[in-house]
Amino acid sequence: MSMPTNSIETYEKKIYDLEQLLGISRALNSTLDSQYLMQAVLDMCLAQMQTLQAGLYLRSNEDHSCLRIMNYSRDFKFPLSIHAYNISDDSVLFSHITERKETVSIRELQEKISNEKEVRMLSSMGVELIAPMQIRNNTIGMIFLGQKASMEPYPLAEWKFLMDLASLSAISVHNAALFERATTDKMTGLKNYACFQTHFRECWENSCRDGDFLGFLFTDLDKFKLLNDNYSHLFGDQVLTKTAHVLLEAVKKEAIAFRYGGEEFCIVLNQGNQESLLKMAEKIRKGVEDMEVEYEGKKVAVTVSVGATIFDLGIDSNDYQSLIRRADSALYLCKQNGRNQVQLLEPVKEESNLLLNHDDDPILEQEG
Ligand code: GH3
Ligand code: MG
Ligand code: MG
Repeated sequence: MSMPTNSIETYEKKIYDLEQLLGISRALNSTLDSQYLMQAVLDMCLAQMQTLQAGLYLRSNEDHSCLRIMNYSRDFKFPLSIHAYNISDDSVLFSHITERKETVSIRELQEKISNEKEVRMLSSMGVELIAPMQIRNNTIGMIFLGQKASMEPYPLAEWKFLMDLASLSAISVHNAALFERATTDKMTGLKNYACFQTHFRECWENSCRDGDFLGFLFTDLDKFKLLNDNYSHLFGDQVLTKTAHVLLEAVKKEAIAFRYGGEEFCIVLNQGNQESLLKMAEKIRKGVEDMEVEYEGKKVAVTVSVGATIFDLGIDSNDYQSLIRRADSALYLCKQNGRNQVQLLEPVKEESNLLLNHDDDPILEQEG
């Protein structure tokens, strides 16, 4: 008995959809960059569901008890402040969608929980379908769609497709968030030591292979122990956070700033030249000197020393740590010469720099 044609077509469509989902899954798992990931999810919605509007709710960084609309949601209009569209964890809408674990239509919400202000808000935005992004029963976000471009209702297969997409996206977005957490220093928000090691090694390998510029700065707060002793460790922590802001402001998108450990930070610059590296170093030194730091209404002076060096193919290509050691030696020179300054140690064949005494150097101790 031959299968009816429409059945073959149905199976062909199912196979096509599964292939699409596999492709989507591969694409979503190929990156840990959350921004890129969310854009990709929205692009997939627009392409696969033939809709003109697609948006994302994700957990807010500022208020962990609600979901917030991502501001790159496509083609929805938000006349009010974006926070007016938040969906709180204790709203009936949040519970309803969380418990349903499936794509839900605006019609269902209007019928079942019409009195909720969040439902009126979604209706006013022109939302048609909404699907929860869930990890082990926790709703970490939602994908929502406007009308189809054809103005037709979404076929049931597309409701299911949206739910599959939401589930795949949830895993990828969650992984990216875990990666972000694992590579970020909680106190300062800078990238951490583990992340530095990976990034620096990658840059060093590129420089060894292609001769690309690589500049490195080591910063160490001056007499920081005294600040802790005189004003408390909590105060010291605030100074570290403020210093991190100065670093971020100085490096912008040109370089990456890391918390190396304690009150030591480092910067990896893989574009530019020695001059731009030194400019950045001076910006950091001046920025910390000008930082507004007060204790009980009185200004507290904070300064930093910055050791700088650049990669040299002939000298540094055998050992990626030689560059780190040289910047550390430069930092040591700053401390010897009175602190609150920038010192550059250029790569030289006979590493006279390394003859400097590191006996009491906390940075190399950490190298292990
Ligand atoms: P120098 O100018 O020679 O660098 O003097 P210093 O006092 O900064 O150097 P030292 O290495 O003796 O002191 C560093 C201090 O940084 C010691 C430690 O208590 C403090 N520290 C390290 N991590 C933290 C932190 O996370 N918070 C606070 N508040 N202090 C920290
Ligand atoms: Mg130190
Ligand atoms: Mg110090």
